[in-house]
Amino acid sequence: MTTMPRGTKDILPSEVGAWRYVEGVLRDLCRCFGFKEIRTPVFEHTELFQRGIGDTTDVVEKEMYTFIDRGKRSITLRPENTASAVRAFIEHKMYAEPDPAKLFYIGPMFRYDRPQAGRQRQFHQFGVELLGAAGPNADAEIILLAVQILRKLGLKDLQLKINTVGCPECRPAYRQRLQDYYRPHLEELCEDCRSRFDRNPMRILDCKNEKCHALAAGAPKLAECLDDDCKEHFAKVQELLKASGVDFVIDPTLVRGLDYYTRTAFEIQYTPLGAQSAVLGGGRYDGLVEEVGGPATPGIGFAMGMERVILALESQNLLPAADDAIDVFAVAPKAEAAALAFTTVEKLREAGICAAYDYQQRSMKAQMKAANRLNAKYVLIFGEDELTRNCVTLRDMQAADKDNNQREIPLAEITTILKTEVQNNE
Ligand SMILES: [Zn+2]
Ligand SMILES: [Zn+2]
Repeated sequence: MTTMPRGTKDILPSEVGAWRYVEGVLRDLCRCFGFKEIRTPVFEHTELFQRGIGDTTDVVEKEMYTFIDRGKRSITLRPENTASAVRAFIEHKMYAEPDPAKLFYIGPMFRYDRPQAGRQRQFHQFGVELLGAAGPNADAEIILLAVQILRKLGLKDLQLKINTVGCPECRPAYRQRLQDYYRPHLEELCEDCRSRFDRNPMRILDCKNEKCHALAAGAPKLAECLDDDCKEHFAKVQELLKASGVDFVIDPTLVRGLDYYTRTAFEIQYTPLGAQSAVLGGGRYDGLVEEVGGPATPGIGFAMGMERVILALESQNLLPAADDAIDVFAVAPKAEAAALAFTTVEKLREAGICAAYDYQQRSMKAQMKAANRLNAKYVLIFGEDELTRNCVTLRDMQAADKDNNQREIPLAEITTILKTEVQNNE
């Protein structure tokens, strides 16, 4: 009863600062790029994900948290947010707006996966979706947003991989060629890939199984089958990225096997995290809105794993120091002064000063220790002597000169003086 369910994790007060910092960077950059936040429910009708992610994917086949609710409806905890965002786009008729919808989200997702380092059953993703823009400039913009986010966070050793997966016009010919290539090797493929052979042969290309991976190297390339529109689109995306000074490599094994994925696919790897080190991935999905029941609308987006990024930042010491010091701690050694300390603290808080006091009326020494544990910048001492003069002692805990760090101040001026001190300190 007092242990977390497998695959979940508490984010403790000492860790929340890192999350808030990263979320702040994400929100700022989304604002710069004109993306607006959307918050969708954490559960949806199961059918949405079956359609929106695809029946043949591992996520839908093996990893969904699906249950029947009391109204006998099949409900699923969202394993990702794109399908939900697209559902909201359709439901709220955002397609009727004159401009493309630019959405971003941050929140928990759920997958019944084997928990391992950096991978939980409840995990968090940030992502963006740009719906209603078909041009290569939208692809380049989305990729640049991703690059800028990771740069702004300070991560180096990043590798951007891009690819094109063609479109429903040019892909059937490619599927055919792939099947021709794999047919004589069927016995060598892993069990998953043998079942992919008919349903979804493109997904054999990104299988992590050693034998499958080796075979993929010799497989025909989609580039050889692309139609002119897809070729031109991909060339333009590359041109725009180069014009923006962004380095990338083309990785033909970067595929997304479902029919509604079109053209650009990309991934950013953080090499120090190891082989499967993608912190972020996305691409174009021009067929998805229609698949989920809306009017044909082009779309592109990406999702980023929050846990992975925070892990990467931690390993590189790129997280800012926690800023949870309080401004003032009120020390009242005698019971008679406790009420005055209490009301003073309340007044300071009203004035926007972070203040605390001792709940238990411990000794002076214990209260000073408590002030230190809270990293208080100042201590107000409500001592018997000073109070007879209607004064308290203000001690500057950050003063370099330890012998000369305190003075008496009048009770009536506590708030004014501390406000000035705290402001000068910032
Ligand atoms: Zn095409
Ligand atoms: Zn395989």
